[in-house]
Formats: sequence, C-alpha cells, structure tokens
Amino acid sequence: RAGKNRHAVFDAELGRRMERKLRLEKDLRKAMALEEFYVVYQPQWHSTAERPIGMEALARWRHPELGVVSPAEFIPLAEETGLIIPLTRWVMFESCRQAAEWRRDGWAEACVSVNLSVRVFESQHLFEMTTGALGAAGLEPERLEVEITESLLLYNVQEIVHQLTELRALGVKIAMDDFGSGYSSLGSLDRLPLDTLKIDQLFIRESNISSKQAILQAIVTLASELRMEMVAEGVETEEQIALLRDAGCHVMQGYYYGKPMEKEAVREWLASRG
Ligand code: C2E
Ligand code: CA
Ligand code: CA
Ligand code: CA
Repeated sequence: RAGKNRHAVFDAELGRRMERKLRLEKDLRKAMALEEFYVVYQPQWHSTAERPIGMEALARWRHPELGVVSPAEFIPLAEETGLIIPLTRWVMFESCRQAAEWRRDGWAEACVSVNLSVRVFESQHLFEMTTGALGAAGLEPERLEVEITESLLLYNVQEIVHQLTELRALGVKIAMDDFGSGYSSLGSLDRLPLDTLKIDQLFIRESNISSKQAILQAIVTLASELRMEMVAEGVETEEQIALLRDAGCHVMQGYYYGKPMEKEAVREWLASRG
C-alpha cells in the first residue's frame, strides 16, 4: 500500500515536471522575439595585478509569469529544440557590443567570454556568427574568448578542431570550461587548440580536502608547462584565494569578487573596483 502511495506521489511530481518542461519549451520559442533574454556578466579578477581582466557572459531568461528561469533549466531545452543557435548568436552580438563599450569607457584590457554548446558547432554557423558579432561591435578578435567543454569530444573531433582553428586564426581565444569535471580531461589538452583552462568549481569548493588540493596543484602545474592561462571558478573565500595563489593560479572568478551582474551593475562595479 505504502509503495502504491509513493508511486502516486512520484507520478504527480513527474507530471508537474513534464508540464513545466512543455510550458517552458513552448514559451522559449517566443522568448527571443519578446526580448525576454538578457545577459549578465561575471568578473574575472587578476589577484596579483589587482584588477579585472575580463567578464564571462551568462544568459538569463526572464519569464513573464514564472520569473527568472535558470540556464541550468533552459539551456538544455534550447539545445534540444535548436534555439540555442539564435540564442548564442544573440549572446555573442550583445557581449561583443558590451566589451567594445567597456573599452570605450576606459577599461582598455576588457575581454568577454561566451559559452558554446556542441549544437553550435554542428550548425556550421559559428564562424559567421563570430565574425558578424565582432564586426558589428568593432571589437578586436583578441578581446573575445569562447568557452567549450569536454563533451565536445564526443562529437566529431576533427570537425571541432577545424572550427576552433578557424576562430583562433582570427585571434579569438579558446577556453576549456569546467576542466577536470569530465572523463577525458588530459586527452583533450593536446587534441584541442586551447589558450585557457578554467578549473572546475569542484576543486576550489573542496580545496580543503587534501586529495582535491593535490589535483588542483597538478592542474596548475600542467597548465603552466603547457603555457596556458588559467582561471579558477567558484572562488568564494579568502582561504581559497590564498590556496590558489600558493598553487600558482592568479586569475579568479567567483562570488567573492562579484556575482553575475546586469550591465548597469557592471558599470558601477567597474567604477568602484576597476
Ligand atoms: P558555467 O559556464 O560553468 O558558468 C559558471 C556558473 O557558476 C554560473 O552559473 C555562475 O553563476 C556560477 N558561479 C559563479 N561563481 C560562483 C561561486 O562563487 N559560487 C557558486 N556556487 N557558483 C558560482 P549560471 O549562470 O547559473 O550558469 C549555469 C551554466 O549554464 C553555465 O555554467 C553554462 O554552462 C550555462 N550557460 C549560461 N549561459 C549560457 C550561454 O549563453 N550559452 C551556453 N551554451 N551555456 C550557457
Ligand atoms: Ca581570459
Ligand atoms: Ca562557462
Ligand atoms: Ca564553468
């Protein structure tokens, strides 16, 4: 009997989730035209130079009735439906325009990083959307970075490498996101053209555990030997900052320095810390 009851509860919960998913999927198709998306920016801070070196662009969706929907929920839906392609194009145009504006406002070294899903590579529109965004903004390619994940390696590696090499030839930087969280981490380092490693939050969050600390140190050493830049993600405390500095990692991104902010808040943040 209890088993049956639990089953009923589970069904109701599953039903609600399915309903929400269908609703979001339906509304997502109109969200672009209704201008419900916006971009927030999270600072990347150089802890020895004591200044910001860039911002990561993160998409947000303000649903008129459901409020702000997390990208963890809508990005997978956008990938399933193919909407990720126009969405990424929009984020790219918006971010490049914003970076050009920061530079005009006096932050000369401003860079912006944009996240890319595998679907964008499959679409064959990446090169064209990147050059389009840079051109429209009048932004130097060196000021744009794209973030990819290891899951790309499950797709046609040669094809991915080809598209990344084209971007890199323009001067665009390539960062490996969430490094250390996947399966093929080490293999990806010499298979993909990369400029930056973003160390996964996990190693920073659990850097009090000695095994995580050892892995963190190994990643930093490896990245240095390979002459790659690194960024530590999810930095929240002074202890973590001290640990990262001792390990040799100097660029940090996390709530300690700044949460993802809308462009008006970025302006204030830059004025007070930039
Ligand atoms: P991500 O690329 O790994 O982005 C970092 C996530 O960590 C962001 O979550 C950010 O808000 C969060 N974060 C930053 N600092 C801290 C910290 O100190 N502590 C903790 N606990 N969290 C921190 P967010 O904005 O919810 O984004 C989630 C994911 O959604 C992103 O993970 C990214 O994979 C994806 N995403 C967001 N925007 C886009 C986009 O335009 N395109 C694509 N393809 N994916 C996107
Ligand atoms: Ca960078
Ligand atoms: Ca990212
Ligand atoms: Ca990340």
